[in-house]
Amino acid sequence: MIKFENSFHKLNTDFYENVIPSKPPKPELISFNKSLSNLLGIKISWIESIEGLECFTGKQVIRNSNPLAMVYAGHQFGNWVPRLGDGRAILLGEILDQNNERWDIQLKGSGLTPFSRNGDGKAALGPVLREYLMSEAMYQLGIPTTLALFIAKTGENVYREKVFPGAIITRVAKSHIRVGTFQYFASLGKYNLVKELMDYVIKRNFPEITNNQNKYLSFLKFVIDAQAKLISKWMSVGFIHGVMNTDNCSIVGDTIDYGPCAFMDKYNENTVFSSIDTFGRYSYKNQPLICQWNLAQLANCILPFLSDEKEKSIKIAQNEIDKYSEVYQNYFSKEIFKKLGFSSKIENDNKLKNELFEIMKRDELDFTISFSNLYFELLNIDNNLSKFTGNSRDFTKWISKWKLRLKKEKKSVNQIAENLKQSNPIIIPRNHLVEEAINFALENDNFSKYFNLLKLVSDPFKYKERYINYYKPPDVLDENFRTFCGT
Ligand code: AMP
Ligand code: MG
Repeated sequence: MIKFENSFHKLNTDFYENVIPSKPPKPELISFNKSLSNLLGIKISWIESIEGLECFTGKQVIRNSNPLAMVYAGHQFGNWVPRLGDGRAILLGEILDQNNERWDIQLKGSGLTPFSRNGDGKAALGPVLREYLMSEAMYQLGIPTTLALFIAKTGENVYREKVFPGAIITRVAKSHIRVGTFQYFASLGKYNLVKELMDYVIKRNFPEITNNQNKYLSFLKFVIDAQAKLISKWMSVGFIHGVMNTDNCSIVGDTIDYGPCAFMDKYNENTVFSSIDTFGRYSYKNQPLICQWNLAQLANCILPFLSDEKEKSIKIAQNEIDKYSEVYQNYFSKEIFKKLGFSSKIENDNKLKNELFEIMKRDELDFTISFSNLYFELLNIDNNLSKFTGNSRDFTKWISKWKLRLKKEKKSVNQIAENLKQSNPIIIPRNHLVEEAINFALENDNFSKYFNLLKLVSDPFKYKERYINYYKPPDVLDENFRTFCGT
């Protein structure tokens, strides 16, 4: 049995609508995340029980759960949408884990809510499998993210461009509040609710600033910091979120709303995968800037709390938003230096880093392998992946310079090599692998390939020769590969 808490439900009722999940005709478990269940203190025997299945598919609303759909607004591709909200997601409640950390437990794909607009509130199996796999991969890569606890088929069909099996994913998050949640209330002039929301986030997620003199300015600084850190981590693994609308921008700095996201194979800073991102607004290279734009929207919502005078508030907010670029650059450089095995920055490190990216760009090197190969290069180990960078003479030259730089480290070569291994994933969920695994599951109702890939991306820093095919880019890279929103 699990015991839900409902701190969000206790807030002003303007924040949500009470909803009952639709009852799926024939729920069937596909998989659940054992270590996450353990973290949350949910007994495995319960999660595997009928009650567990019914709870996480919405068939049964268990005691203490107060299901609700949250309201929010947002800028979608820069266009203001005054009301969005959870159109296919329902918050069941919260769980306190063993460390007293509070986690939202939310169903995604559990039917209509007052915010469903033209949608059906349901989710198709493909996107559910994708989110379960991608969020686990991100988590194991050490990137802040919402988590996925449970995936199940519903036993009914959903209708998209084709008919697909319906499915539900149980999402777990430190918060589901978005920049768009603040925008919704600020746009209506309901600043008492903006304040209530901010106080809630501070109490729950940023308790260390509760007693700060200007805690709302601290709040803004915290969100900026968390977002800058998050984006720097995306950029350091070649992750492209694909739909960085303000409603998909988590207030606590987690990766949220896995839709058309994907990892790039060969390095091209203009890469876009999402089929609807026609103008490349959310391309790889634009992500840091878009993040700043989103943060400016947040700052705008909380202006009345930054000072008593409007002009002064704007100045304060602008100052914080201007500082973002530096905060981001610092985080990004740190991420990359870690990947290069530098324990701290010394003269010319930035130049060396920029040169590497230039070479990766010019010679269209594989992003992941350019970094994972460093371990093998340092130890002079020949391996099957080096051919993906070995043809680049500039890369080879760069390696010599990099090795010279490493001589300035106060560590043994083996220690540096170990650090390189821990900082550069050998496997990421490459598009061709994810597509193949999911299509195979959909076409054959057989999840073996999917589970195999899931297992490998769940241990992204471990090299095993026999899995070499999973580490390589596809033989022929599909330059037109496109992803779709998870609807
Ligand atoms: P997303 O693409 O996940 O960021 O969703 C954008 C908005 O569309 C959110 O308000 C979602 O709740 C809503 N939405 C997406 N898919 C559906 C669906 N199948 N049914 C109802 N609402 C949806
Ligand atoms: Mg969304």
